[in-house]
Amino acid sequence: MPFKFDVYERSAYREPAPIDRDSPFQSMMERFDVAAEILELSPGFYEYLCRPARMHVTSIPVEMDSGRVKVFEGYRVIHNDVLGPSKGGIRFAPDVTLNEVKALAGWMTWKCSLVDLPFGGAKGGVVCDPNEMSPGELERLTRRYTADLFDVFGPNKDIPAPDMNTNEQIMAWVLDTYSMHARKTENAVVTGKPVGLGGSEGRRQATGRGVMTVTLAALERVGLAPSECTVAVQGFGNVGATAAALLAEQGCSVVAVSDVTGGYYNENGLNLSEMRAHAERTGGTLEGYEAAQPLTNEDLLTLDVDVLVPAAKEDQIDRSVAEDVTARIIAEGANGPTHPAADAVLQNKGVLVVPDILANAGGVTASYFEWVQNRQGFFWTEEEVNRRLDRMMETAFDKVYATAEEYDVSLRIAAYVVGVRRVAEALRMRGIYA
Ligand code: GLU
Repeated sequence: MPFKFDVYERSAYREPAPIDRDSPFQSMMERFDVAAEILELSPGFYEYLCRPARMHVTSIPVEMDSGRVKVFEGYRVIHNDVLGPSKGGIRFAPDVTLNEVKALAGWMTWKCSLVDLPFGGAKGGVVCDPNEMSPGELERLTRRYTADLFDVFGPNKDIPAPDMNTNEQIMAWVLDTYSMHARKTENAVVTGKPVGLGGSEGRRQATGRGVMTVTLAALERVGLAPSECTVAVQGFGNVGATAAALLAEQGCSVVAVSDVTGGYYNENGLNLSEMRAHAERTGGTLEGYEAAQPLTNEDLLTLDVDVLVPAAKEDQIDRSVAEDVTARIIAEGANGPTHPAADAVLQNKGVLVVPDILANAGGVTASYFEWVQNRQGFFWTEEEVNRRLDRMMETAFDKVYATAEEYDVSLRIAAYVVGVRRVAEALRMRGIYA
């Protein structure tokens, strides 16, 4: 018997929306639209999946160390929870917007679906500059944000994690605040927490490890051995620094990395452990690192290397940068680093782009393992986490690669096809509650 929704006709429902080139949500939707077309989503499903399920905006008053009360704006967007509880990080940044959080939440939906996790997608954000705040101020901000969202979060509802500028300590405060309100310790309410509080071995390195795994898979497809390839990594945070170190361990020569202080280059390969130690000493940046040649950000992105790993932030590779990209493979460690206008340029040049929702899915996959371990009350070794992570990333890569061949599309569109299809199928089975 056909499902009820099969009788919906496709119609000229879709007015081409004016594209706001600067909006991350539009960037996500442009790719979603292509996948929706391939999947022949019914207009009703299209409309349903276009919109975030729920958006929460909260004003967060914080008593600053000076005694003054400052009010911050916070967001939590639940994009979709058809496949299970929604999952996604919390970002602290001075320029974070609701539109960006909406896009990031949508990416989480397709990402979780694509790697076969029983999760929907969500994202949180707080407009603040963590570099200007004391640990006490950050703690009060995190606790009040969590208390405001107590009814939204939950181990079976919505599970936050780290994202840009948030870390294990912040997740520990989320865990503690939520648990105080729930009147019991709920360690499965948040992932990416310290191992001593029920965090998972391997979670911290998982996003970078996933980037390494898909890069190796991509290298194999183009017939390059790791030992004969050069790599440039934009971003030296948790994702970039780990991906760089693991790729070097696999025999690649990492010749350039960058962070907010600029780019660092050595044609014979950088000393990454020395650079990491330097960043630890300076409190996170490579400022003042002298054992490499300086490089601009733009130069790094267009450097003559085999693999480029953008692991910083959105929209770094626009059309004009794409025209100058010489890398054979791009593995997107960041969310949304490539502007949609650059997609066709890269494809025409034959650059194999492993898209964000596939390349950086290792983080949320290990978050899933963490949640499973918390619910079982039984913990795995790092080897066990890594083994399962590698397998899930390789399976996802193969599935996306096969889908790209089947529909003759880029890996990015194929990743959306795989991600959107699983959500649409679940929605079809569940039906629309009247
Ligand atoms: N913030 C990470 C991401 O963008 C991880 C999210 C999670 O583990 O829930 O995928």
